[in-house]
Amino acid sequence: MSQFDVIVIGSGPGGYVSAIRCAQLGMSVALVEKYNSLGGTCLNVGCIPSKALLDSSEHYHQAVHQFKEHGIELSAAPTINLKQMIDRKAGVVSDTVKGIQFLMKKNKITVLHGMGSFVDAHTVAVAGEKETQNITGKNIIIATGSKPASLPFINIDKKRVITSTEALEMKEIPKHLIIIGGGVIGLELGSVYGRLGAKVSVVEYMEGIIPTMDKSLGKELQKSLTKLGFEFYLSHKVKSVENTGKKVVVKADNTKGEELVLEGDYTLVSVGRKAYTEGLNVDKAGVAMDERGRVITNEHLQTSQPHIYAIGDVVKGAMLAHKAEEEGVFVAEVIAGQKPHINHLLIPGVVYTWPEVAAVGHTEEELKAKGIAYKVGNFPFKASGRARASMDTDGFIKVLADTTTDEVLGVHMIGPRCADLIAEAVMAMEFKATAEDIARICHAHPTFTESLKEAALAATANRALHM
Ligand code: FAD
Ligand code: NAD
Repeated sequence: MSQFDVIVIGSGPGGYVSAIRCAQLGMSVALVEKYNSLGGTCLNVGCIPSKALLDSSEHYHQAVHQFKEHGIELSAAPTINLKQMIDRKAGVVSDTVKGIQFLMKKNKITVLHGMGSFVDAHTVAVAGEKETQNITGKNIIIATGSKPASLPFINIDKKRVITSTEALEMKEIPKHLIIIGGGVIGLELGSVYGRLGAKVSVVEYMEGIIPTMDKSLGKELQKSLTKLGFEFYLSHKVKSVENTGKKVVVKADNTKGEELVLEGDYTLVSVGRKAYTEGLNVDKAGVAMDERGRVITNEHLQTSQPHIYAIGDVVKGAMLAHKAEEEGVFVAEVIAGQKPHINHLLIPGVVYTWPEVAAVGHTEEELKAKGIAYKVGNFPFKASGRARASMDTDGFIKVLADTTTDEVLGVHMIGPRCADLIAEAVMAMEFKATAEDIARICHAHPTFTESLKEAALAATANRALHM
């Protein structure tokens, strides 16, 4: 039986990154993955393919709606080759997966393809296509990720009633895409097909979209997506979804009990994801789970068995690739006897719509609930020269700082390239910067980054220069 210092189960961004860090620290590592492709949800059916389609659809949208104003005349209206768009996405995924295979070889990590399941607290059975082999590990890292969640009365038939996985592989552009759940997946994939010409209706249970983020972001994003043609049905509870063959009928009630009936050709169910431990037999290893099916971990990400760790989507916290990666590195360093640290408050969240949405730290709603006195500095992108030059004037940056100490407590932004702009705010907050610190740093002109400086200036005695 093969023995390893560490067995990692699951090759998503949590698992493969953890495997690399363990190998860098001199450990022998086995990485177990049930699919033939490495990279997990993120690389295969998540972050990477969705961003590939978001980029392609944004190019088309600009060609149709913005080129003319830029003075670019096309001799014929642009047309969409959806198969080519999906094929390009598949190529991006395949190249990225190959990159992970290369990294595994480079770091001398033993990759075993097959379903991993616990035999006991130190032994994992790997059921490959041809045979099952047992391997043992001094330490084991559970990184088995998550799967789409649904509602009890919905039958996800993968034909007309689909999850994000099918939405990344469409054979036609929906005429009317009904989205259940106005969170990250619904709005990103809704944007893809909305830009390509689909009518998009979003049915959301809460009173605003992206409801876990600062409320101001959801309100602004709703305005921008409404301009794109989205229709929103907020505070609506979906009660039935029926595939009638050529169409799908979604029924929901609003808070007054009034019924909404929507008919479309596809329905995307995007009401969250759930931790995935099916077939893992964690009970055989004595690993405890919580009431939501997540593996319970302590502050060192140890499970109820100290030599078994769990990271990423399968444990509590935001379901984000970079959170899984940070936890993967953290656990490797804990195993190596180091004292790593993760500040989960400073894990940024990004929504890759256009405008992009990004945030780090506390929301205004959280600060109010905690009774923390704070100041607000706001800067709209319409006051940015760079944003006007690129015709991307929707959105704003909001800096929240402690009233007494001026320490930055949260940064919330919606606008062009916010997915990248948020890094400066994360860095500032990691170094416990004040709004004054950001306000006094020179930012190149003309860039979108100046808007963060201006928002910081606005937070410190309301001294924004361009507003
Ligand atoms: P996963 O990536 O889910 O990987 C788990 C792996 O474990 C899988 O490969 C699975 O096959 C394997 N596995 C499970 N059980 C077993 C077993 N018993 N034996 C062997 N192998 C097993 N996050 C972002 O940060 N940015 C984004 O832009 C983003 N976009 C997304 C878009 C979509 C459409 C979706 C669905 C998700 C997106 N996410 C994004 C979320 C991100 O994909 C996840 O947070 C991330 O993949 C979690 O990483 P993980 O390593 O914990 O698990
Ligand atoms: P989500 O939690 O972002 O959004 C789910 C939405 O569905 C919420 O707004 C919720 O209020 C709503 N909802 C729940 N039950 C409902 C009901 N019965 N009727 C109507 N609406 C209902 O989940 P998601 O969009 O499915 O994404 C899953 C996970 O994947 C998220 O945790 C997210 O972090 C991750 N993800 C991240 C990115 C990114 O980082 N850009 C992109 C895609 C996915």
